[in-house]
Amino acid sequence: MEATTEYTDCLIIGSGPAGYTAAIYAARADMKPILYTGMQPGGQLTITTEVDNFPGYPNGTHGPKMMEDLEAQAKRFGTDVRFGMATKVDFSGSVHKVWIDETKLIEAQTVVIATGASAKWLGLESEQRLNGFGVSACAVCDGFFFRGQDVAIVGGGDTAAEEASYLAKLCNKVYMIVRRDELRASKAMQHRVLNTPNIEMLWSTETLEIEGGQAVTGARFKNLKTGEEFSKTITGFFVAIGHTPNSGIFKGWLDMDENGYIQTIPGTSKTNVKGVFACGDVQDHVYRQAVTAAGSGCMAALDAERYLATVHVPA
Ligand code: NDP
Repeated sequence: MEATTEYTDCLIIGSGPAGYTAAIYAARADMKPILYTGMQPGGQLTITTEVDNFPGYPNGTHGPKMMEDLEAQAKRFGTDVRFGMATKVDFSGSVHKVWIDETKLIEAQTVVIATGASAKWLGLESEQRLNGFGVSACAVCDGFFFRGQDVAIVGGGDTAAEEASYLAKLCNKVYMIVRRDELRASKAMQHRVLNTPNIEMLWSTETLEIEGGQAVTGARFKNLKTGEEFSKTITGFFVAIGHTPNSGIFKGWLDMDENGYIQTIPGTSKTNVKGVFACGDVQDHVYRQAVTAAGSGCMAALDAERYLATVHVPA
């Protein structure tokens, strides 16, 4: 099927805090942005509950509500918000080409990439099968369901340590599954998990299988030093082993680091391709906060606006 073609001055891909903030600024600058939401409108914040660290909410807010508000604000200034997934790009010309769901071609003078990052999984069949039935990548979203129960969390970074501490307050027992004999997490977080009585560290341990038919009932592990295999009875299995940037379709066009995070010129949102800007978690593996994503979305819109002023814009 031939793709229909449409032109815009500003195409924004992604609908987390970065994408919507870019949209608010671009729309107010009269760039008439089109924003494609991707498959998870609102992004990662839609799978969290309370957000207590976004400035301006003295009593906190909820992730999904915050994303609804951001969307409404972007629309209020005229952003054309559409459901759809960017599936292919061609950044070889001065006007950039982005295909949406393979059926539509958007030609854009500027492109703001705000596609975010997704949680990594271990890759076990049982993990996929029991996802949503005791397996989760978000302790803050789902920990509530495991109050008073025994759970496991995989990972040794700051996220795993933070989530283990969070779960320890709700659950009876938390097994922290670490593949090496040390944590990657910061000293402060290490101190916290190592001194929480109901967190039990399982060092040098690999998960072999998550057990359960309809829901998680346990997991089988292997000690990588001794080779010993053992099981634990648990009802929740949390995975906190990092994130992967959603940058696959830009490979070959944009400079990226070894983990696929898009590289921007420090202090800007500019990529190596003129007129293409990146903001939010797809270019930030360090801070990964709603407020930093929103700030970088603002930068991207301002960079795009300045770039647009320097090029000929077709009528
Ligand atoms: P990290 O990449 O820092 O840590 C991932 C952890 O998962 C590591 O311990 C890693 O082990 C382990 N891991 C990776 N793959 C597997 C696997 N297949 N099986 C078992 N274990 C695995 O990710 P985080 O999400 O924890 O943190 C990302 C960034 O965000 C970091 O810079 C972190 O400091 C920051 N952050 C900061 C917070 C804060 O300051 N409050 C809170 C949360 C995150 P190994 O160590 O062996 O590689």
